[in-house]
Amino acid sequence: MATKVDFYAVLEVERTATAEELKKAYRKQAMRYHPDRNPGDETAEHKFKEINEAYDILKDEQKRAAYDRFGHAAFENGGMGGGGFGGFGGGGLDDIFEMFGDMMGGRRGGRRRTGNDVQVQVEITLSEAYSGIKKPVEIRTRIACESCHGTGSADSNAGDTTCPTCHGAGAVRAQQGFFLVERPCPTCHGSGKVVKNPCKSCRGSGTTEQTRTLEIAIPAGVEDGTRIRLTGEGEAGGNGVQPGDLYVHVSVGGSDIFQRDGANIYCRVPLRMTQAALGTEIEVPVIDGTRTRVKIPAGTQTGENFRLRGKGFSVLRSSARGDMYIQVAVETPHHLSPRQKELLEEFEAEAGETQDQEKANPEHTGFFAKVRDFFEGK
Ligand SMILES: [Zn+2]
Ligand SMILES: [Zn+2]
Repeated sequence: MATKVDFYAVLEVERTATAEELKKAYRKQAMRYHPDRNPGDETAEHKFKEINEAYDILKDEQKRAAYDRFGHAAFENGGMGGGGFGGFGGGGLDDIFEMFGDMMGGRRGGRRRTGNDVQVQVEITLSEAYSGIKKPVEIRTRIACESCHGTGSADSNAGDTTCPTCHGAGAVRAQQGFFLVERPCPTCHGSGKVVKNPCKSCRGSGTTEQTRTLEIAIPAGVEDGTRIRLTGEGEAGGNGVQPGDLYVHVSVGGSDIFQRDGANIYCRVPLRMTQAALGTEIEVPVIDGTRTRVKIPAGTQTGENFRLRGKGFSVLRSSARGDMYIQVAVETPHHLSPRQKELLEEFEAEAGETQDQEKANPEHTGFFAKVRDFFEGK
């Protein structure tokens, strides 16, 4: 067996540390080396095992006393230490999940007794995302039983008795790959108790399955992939347990005309070569369903943007608004009529002459000057 590091050193605490200080140190270290935060890092994994093993011993007064007297020898050769993930027994598990629940703002480990959360997907169009919309969604979920008002009991005087599945703990543990996972007990849904004289409609669970329609207010400016949480709109817990939450996943459709980038909207508008050269005024669609006119100055090039201030999406939780950008694409004419061809040939003759004089277009003048330099070997 490899030499073991001192348990106090592993947790980076004094030998005189109080139980509270140990717990704090353990949480800090476990968070730092948790496999979820260090995927594929074997050193961290090893360290995480050490931390758990150390805390598993030191948090127990008797084991700690034995360790203080005899060191690691107290737990070797059939002692209580155990290798691998033995450190996961007992309270260590709860502490980890509690801690990660806090950290991620979620809740793992079934500590909070509630009904299940419900997930629904809502699809809306880009215009609906622009204006915001109320969408009815159908949720197949458990609601409080109407016969027994959620108590689960046919006779309110019968009282209840300890749940046979979890023996009153309200939670059951199951191995899931590497981890022990704690879940709310399927029999009592976390209450730890079952009723003596169960209600016939819900068989004592206190909840029945029903389809419920909810109107979801989707705010203006919502982005694709946004998740909206409605607290307490999930499954009823039964037996006086809090209902779970409803999570609405919003997926926003695309558009043939508009491209969205955050709060800004882009619209690519084709322009005839002559319009771009001479300047014009064009009508463009706006995401709110209206139209507006945009002045295109003479000599506009492909790729130039024209900003329409405030015509974009509203920004969530703010009074700010994005802008709309008209992106111009100048189109080269094809399928020319004989007359058009004649006109363009005349135009080209004129343009070529101008080019020769290297006066009209300074940009092009620069380019042709560079070409001449290139061939002259400069
Ligand atoms: Zn139970
Ligand atoms: Zn019932």
